[in-house]
Amino acid sequence: MDDPQFYSELLRAYFDSTRDAIFVLCDEMKFLTCNKTTEHWLGISENELTRHNHRTPIVRLLGDHYDAEKFGVFFNSAIKGKSASFETLIRPLQGKDRWIDISMSRVDIENGDMVIAVARDISERKKHLAMIKKQSRYDELTGLPNRKYIIEYLKKYQNNLNKASHELVLLVLDLDRFKEVNESLGHKAGDLILQEIARRLSRVTDISSGEVVARLSGDEFAIAFPGIELSQSRITAQMIRQIVSQPFAVAGRKISLNCAIGVAALPTHTNDSSKLIQLAEVAMYNAKSHKLGISTYDPRLSGSVSERLHLATDLCESLKKSHIKAFFQPIINMRTKSLHAEVLARWQHPQRGNIVPDIFIPLAEETGSINKLTSKIMESALRACAPLFHEHVLESVSVNISPYCLSNEKLPTEIETYLEKYDIQASSLTLEITESVMMSNLPSTQKNIEALHKLGLAFSIDDFGTGYSSLSKLKYMQLKELKIDKSFILNIDQHENDSAITNAAITNAMIKMAHALGLEVVAEGIENEEIWSRLSDIDCDYGQGYWIAKPMSANKFISWVKNYHELIKSSSGIS
Ligand code: C2E
Ligand code: CA
Ligand code: CA
Repeated sequence: MDDPQFYSELLRAYFDSTRDAIFVLCDEMKFLTCNKTTEHWLGISENELTRHNHRTPIVRLLGDHYDAEKFGVFFNSAIKGKSASFETLIRPLQGKDRWIDISMSRVDIENGDMVIAVARDISERKKHLAMIKKQSRYDELTGLPNRKYIIEYLKKYQNNLNKASHELVLLVLDLDRFKEVNESLGHKAGDLILQEIARRLSRVTDISSGEVVARLSGDEFAIAFPGIELSQSRITAQMIRQIVSQPFAVAGRKISLNCAIGVAALPTHTNDSSKLIQLAEVAMYNAKSHKLGISTYDPRLSGSVSERLHLATDLCESLKKSHIKAFFQPIINMRTKSLHAEVLARWQHPQRGNIVPDIFIPLAEETGSINKLTSKIMESALRACAPLFHEHVLESVSVNISPYCLSNEKLPTEIETYLEKYDIQASSLTLEITESVMMSNLPSTQKNIEALHKLGLAFSIDDFGTGYSSLSKLKYMQLKELKIDKSFILNIDQHENDSAITNAAITNAMIKMAHALGLEVVAEGIENEEIWSRLSDIDCDYGQGYWIAKPMSANKFISWVKNYHELIKSSSGIS
């Protein structure tokens, strides 16, 4: 078996059987020999490739896309004895396009300058890589571009800004209450909602004019509008909010979600595209925390965002150290003069002084500490009021319940425990909820409302008139009362003011409507006697406001209650 012919044929068979293209080139880059795969790739037979005097240098066979110069450099270094390899796309005239990984080394046989090349088809791998690269720039759930994509897009826009010289407006949008929906309806429903939002946003953007919608994270989306003026962006943002908030059916129910939108523009607010998203996010947080719906970036906001972060950390500390206290504001029955109260949270910050609830309640809602805050306020309010209930000098106390808390499944048991602990009747506790909660179809919220009703608690609709309650729903909820928002009440004593006259008419209508539905009415924001009398004249049931008393600490409230009863006794002549 040591026949050289045999080995040479064996070698040739092996040479031809491999899926790599193997070929030998002379110093002029012309073919000396090649295997079957090479023939197949180039669509030219070995005979043709190696025909004496007709041989064509390889670089003329590899198509137009091909980097001949690079090939030359690598070939020359291989021929000098330094093996080389590189990747390139080839487009042979008579063969398929392929990506190849080619390695070349010098062969020293018979003193000739020759290079042996082995090329592997890496088209599949390239395709796969391109797919992964694409995936890394797209969001899997919605199919939208992701944060990485939009960052690159904004960078490109910035680089071309001098040429285009048009402004680019970026909107960052974040859904309200998405976490709550996700948790109560399940993540599958949450995913469906995000996909629907993605579809709606895609419908309002025009890809052909370079507009892009991206999903930045969770329930946060961004939309880039190149070439629109910042002044137009408000209308666009309003339209988007409207489209997002339209109800949709998920898990067999109809729900609708609002969103907050932050607006920032390149180059108006920054020349640095990498900062643009951050600025729009700052504006979005501002819109969210001040319930503005839409907010445009303002440099003064940046400070407030870092301040918010500090405050969020302090809030957790303060809850542990009981720096958040329950204050009490009296509510008086306008006819019988019986006494009720609303519990309002106060944050006595050790360094910053008193911080108002309009700042820290939204913060607690966003950071998830609202449940803890509510139980603390609820317990300390019931503890303080227990003796007043037992002495029958206070009829009921109302606690504000944020929508987030109403979907907390532990709420009913927690309340039941406190009522037992302080020996208080359930009918002495009223929960103030907002219109949006009442309209919510979340199963966890509905379940809680039922459980709380069973316990015997009453519900009051807070800030009535500012939301979008449906009257038919009001009828079915077992409500005790409506609290007309103070924005309707504060100015109704001003007879010449148009808006005051409208407010008075609306208040009057709301009272009539509530009574027709069998509900009582509380008016808050009574700042003087005249407002009190006007409300009393139009049959309002309860009054609350600075004219009666401002919110006060538990100790002050206890003394106030005593004084109040003495005053009532003396004025009604009962000694
Ligand atoms: P709200 O529930 O509408 O509470 C009434 C607000 O009106 C209180 O502001 C009260 O001090 C104020 N107010 C009462 N009478 C008058 C008046 O005659 N004139 C004027 N101008 N204002 C009056 P406050 O205490 O700053 O609370 C603001 C909001 O913070 C509350 O609005 C409520 O939404 C929220 N909040 C307060 N405490 C809590 C709490 O413990 N839990 C939750 N979830 N929210 C709370
Ligand atoms: Ca309230
Ligand atoms: Ca209110």
